[in-house]
Amino acid sequence: MAMKKSYVDKTICVACGVCTKVCPKQAIIIIKGCYAKVDAEHCVGCRKCEKNCPAGCIEVREG
Ligand code: SF4
Ligand code: SF4
Repeated sequence: MAMKKSYVDKTICVACGVCTKVCPKQAIIIIKGCYAKVDAEHCVGCRKCEKNCPAGCIEVREG
């Protein structure tokens, strides 16, 4: 079974950093202050980032 992973639409990400704070695995970093990037190696698909992103630009889906 494929693991669910988090994906960021970086074109609408506002780089607020909320996702980096709620992720229990520290799997998200903000690149150059511009957009969030998920490290798929560490993401466990918990959806905390998706639920808390104020811009609605994170989707957790089958990787
Ligand atoms: S919470 Fe959403 S808008 Fe904020 S940095 Fe993360 S992906 Fe971007
Ligand atoms: S789904 Fe969970 S583990 Fe994966 S990036 Fe989002 S908060 Fe982190």
